[in-house]
Amino acid sequence: MLAMSKRLFSLRVKFFAVVAPLVLLAIASVFAIVEWIASERALRAMESKLERTLAIQSQVLADPLWNLAREQVELVADAILIDTDVVELMVRDERGLFLSSSRVDEVQGLQSGTVDIVFNDGGEPQVIGSLQVSLSGSRLIAERNERMIIAAVLAGVLLLAVIVAALVANGRTVGRPLARLLSAIQAIDAGGDRKPVDWSSRDEMGDVISAFNKMLAQQELHETKLEAARLELEDRVEQRTAELKLAREAAEAANEAKSSFLATMSHEIRTPLNGIIGMSNLLQGTKLNTEQRDYSATISAAADTLLTIINDILDFSKVEAGAIELEARPIDVAELVESSLDLVTSKAASQGIELANRISPDVPAGIIGDATRIKQVLMNLLNNAVKFTEHGEVVLTIERAKSGNNGRIGEGVPLRISVRDTGIGIPADRMDRLFKSFSQVDASTTRKYGGTGLGLAITKRLVELMGGEINVESEVGVGTEFSFTADFEIAPVPDREAKEQRLAALKDTSILVVDDNRTNRVILEEKLRQWGMYVASLGAPAEAVGTDPSNFDAIILDFKMPEMNGAELANRMREKWGDKLPPMLLFSSLGQVENEWRDEVERAGFAGTLTKPAKSNHLIDMLSRVISGELETGPQETTTGAANGEALDLQILLVDDNKINRKVGSKILAANGYGADVVASGAEAIEHVQKKSYDVVLMDIEMPEMDGLMATRLIREAIVPKQHPYIIALTANAMASERETYLKSGMDDYLSKPIDVDALLQALQGAKRFRETQAHEALA
Ligand code: ATP
Ligand code: MG
Repeated sequence: MLAMSKRLFSLRVKFFAVVAPLVLLAIASVFAIVEWIASERALRAMESKLERTLAIQSQVLADPLWNLAREQVELVADAILIDTDVVELMVRDERGLFLSSSRVDEVQGLQSGTVDIVFNDGGEPQVIGSLQVSLSGSRLIAERNERMIIAAVLAGVLLLAVIVAALVANGRTVGRPLARLLSAIQAIDAGGDRKPVDWSSRDEMGDVISAFNKMLAQQELHETKLEAARLELEDRVEQRTAELKLAREAAEAANEAKSSFLATMSHEIRTPLNGIIGMSNLLQGTKLNTEQRDYSATISAAADTLLTIINDILDFSKVEAGAIELEARPIDVAELVESSLDLVTSKAASQGIELANRISPDVPAGIIGDATRIKQVLMNLLNNAVKFTEHGEVVLTIERAKSGNNGRIGEGVPLRISVRDTGIGIPADRMDRLFKSFSQVDASTTRKYGGTGLGLAITKRLVELMGGEINVESEVGVGTEFSFTADFEIAPVPDREAKEQRLAALKDTSILVVDDNRTNRVILEEKLRQWGMYVASLGAPAEAVGTDPSNFDAIILDFKMPEMNGAELANRMREKWGDKLPPMLLFSSLGQVENEWRDEVERAGFAGTLTKPAKSNHLIDMLSRVISGELETGPQETTTGAANGEALDLQILLVDDNKINRKVGSKILAANGYGADVVASGAEAIEHVQKKSYDVVLMDIEMPEMDGLMATRLIREAIVPKQHPYIIALTANAMASERETYLKSGMDDYLSKPIDVDALLQALQGAKRFRETQAHEALA
């Protein structure tokens, strides 16, 4: 609404207030002047009347007074008094008052005059007396009063006439157009039509209103134009939206095509790669001469590199396509750091670089995040640091980015995670290249250190995905520090209780480590001592045979040592010490347990196998189970050939449509002591599980006719829930590698191809635990 100030006085009242006193003053002064003139004139008429009366009557009185004719004098006096203005008259002779006559009631406004009465009989004129006449002012006053009344009435009428006239004129010329203008404005303001004001006059008001009307017309014109523009704009937006939609659909289609191309390509490359890696690993486990071993090691290394590159490219395109979704799960910070470092330990050791980590005490023990992706970031940074450092150290540090709350669960905490090295450094002018894809600081880098230049590009994007920021500081020849900061929510440490229980079981136990490699020994010793264990370590197997083992709760033996290997050593010790021997664990790199040593390994009766590099969790798990007697020990009676004590009691079905994969899979299983039935399709798998009770099904996902997911569903339907096998998805399909997808579809675990033997063995252990609880439940 139009904001109208509240009116105190209307224009009319103001006008009236100005005009009325002026008109009144003007009328009053006119009447005052007229009145003054009128009363002056009346006064003078009275004076002359008095003069004339005195002059005439004194002559008339001269004779009778001379003759002392009183009657005649009285007659004259009466005649004078006929004039109503005369109120008193006195005639005197030489002796005094001769006659006095008056109207007693009239005494107002007396004006009197006296003349001598002169007798003239032709001789000398003689003064014989005097005449005094007084005239009354009351007539004058009455007349004046009358005039005043008339004047007042006239003034009133005049005033009224002037005011009415003025008001009417004002109303006509100002009030009316103003009211119309106002009502027009109010109508517009209330959302009505923009009607022009109907008024024309050749004065200022007329000018104002015609200007107003003109303005309205212009506004209307503008509005029409505006409306037209709006409509046009709307049209254009609609058109653009349609175009954009088309473009988006095209882009989405292209993206989808790209994704599926990548998925297919990855699948296609991974499948043969699985064969190459698996077979060359197996090859290394057979009897080879030095030259052959070198060739197969080279094949293995090349295939590993190829796999890393494929993974990197896939990861990169996934990040680019925004296809990566971060998990949010509780992470054990210490575990994360350790397992990340584990992966570069051996490389650092072989280069003679110190690896260290520091977790600042105010960093929470548990955080929420995506462990895999954080580890991937750390891996990239650590790998680079080790790769580009010849001597010195690489330090991984986690600290608070800024001090703040004191770390209650559920609160956010900004963490700064950094990897510092004492390596070659990065020239300042090359910094900008760092995070670009496929770019390396120096073209010679590729030749000297290898790599694709994708690592940091992926790292940066992953960090950004976590809402963080990556930074780098470097000095050529001094070293480099990569760091990233991101906010994490504080969480309770996952599995902490179980882990603590297991650690408590290890505390104050003693252990003997036999390993010829000093670095390995040192790393292992440090870990074990950290958990409160007493450690004795020996570098020579011969020395170990002579050591009384009864003081130890467990023994860890390296497999590959000079003089004698771990299995031989174990058997020698068993021969010598018999029952005094505590449970033993075999520590070996995969593929090392060559076929020819199988018998030895079996006879030695290891309680379990540890693969290098040993992961803390796995180590704790194995040690606590061995020491608590959960894992059987002693000479094994069975002769089926196994390096692993647990290997024998699992019935495994391997399902894969690819011939090479079937071969690789069954060979790897066999090499680790597992027998397996092998089928080539989902339908066959269903048939098999119905005929025989399997503990584990290793299920390929992509198969013609019936895929792994469908086969899994049908198996679940066909078999009583309490007896269904543990199904592990096995796929080269890395694009859809989200574990969750498979777990949701009824799989129990997931492994990607090429098969990582370590992961496979762990998955099988999981299957075994699953079987045990199943059996337990069935009993209960
Ligand atoms: P990839 O990681 O894909 O195998 P890469 O390590 O060469 O290959 P990035 O990790 O992206 O690629 O690193 C890019 C380049 O940045 C490296 O080639 C190297 O020149 C330089 N760089 C990275 N980290 C360091 C470091 N710690 N010290 C010196 N230079 C480094
Ligand atoms: Mg790198």
